[in-house]
Amino acid sequence: MSEIAHPLLPSMSRGLKGRCPKCGQGKLFWKYLKVNGHCEACDLDLARYPADDGPAYLTILLVGHLVVAPLLFFPIVWESSPVYTLPLILIPLAAITLALLPRVKGAWIGMMYALAVKDTDAHLHTADAVE
Ligand SMILES: [Zn+2]
Repeated sequence: MSEIAHPLLPSMSRGLKGRCPKCGQGKLFWKYLKVNGHCEACDLDLARYPADDGPAYLTILLVGHLVVAPLLFFPIVWESSPVYTLPLILIPLAAITLALLPRVKGAWIGMMYALAVKDTDAHLHTADAVE
């Protein structure tokens, strides 16, 4: 699994755009976060590339570090009434998170495609590699 089976950055970039990581033509999702079973252009079995909780974790990490942490440096966040600041912060924050999540999931699936990690590899654990 240490070898990269396909080019990493192009695969992730195609996934980031919501496209098939192999050809970049077919749609990756048929609903908000529902991955198509097969690519309509190249017939790649898209459902075989696991995402699990990785995209959600990475999205929270990105939004937390790039939006929430810098936001806390503005005194208006602390000084004004929560009646106004909470909706003004939480609604855009939810919108940013929901907009970012499918893109991160697409890039994640692109990474899984590039690294040739499939759902059949689920039995592998990092602890097993140490032995
Ligand atoms: Zn394709």
